[in-house]
Amino acid sequence: MEAQPKQCRRCLLREMTDENDYYESVKRYRAALPPKKRTSDEEYERRVMACKECGFLDGGTCMQCGCYVEMRAARLDMHCPRIHSPW
Ligand code: SF4
Repeated sequence: MEAQPKQCRRCLLREMTDENDYYESVKRYRAALPPKKRTSDEEYERRVMACKECGFLDGGTCMQCGCYVEMRAARLDMHCPRIHSPW
């Protein structure tokens, strides 16, 4: 029996085996950002972990704004769209 790709509502792209191409794009995008526009590693992890706890995360996408959360979290000038934003 063939292994099923891992996918869940609360997954980030980096956790979804069938979305690795998208996650590679996210990594390239983050690496290409100028340092003054890019979140630190610590802030990036804080943001994506907040998304993992959020009910609006659906398969790596924020259902409030339509962005891949790992891409949105990479930029210092981007924020969570919720009124009581965790980041
Ligand atoms: S960006 Fe905000 S609203 Fe969207 S999934 Fe992350 S924490 Fe939730």
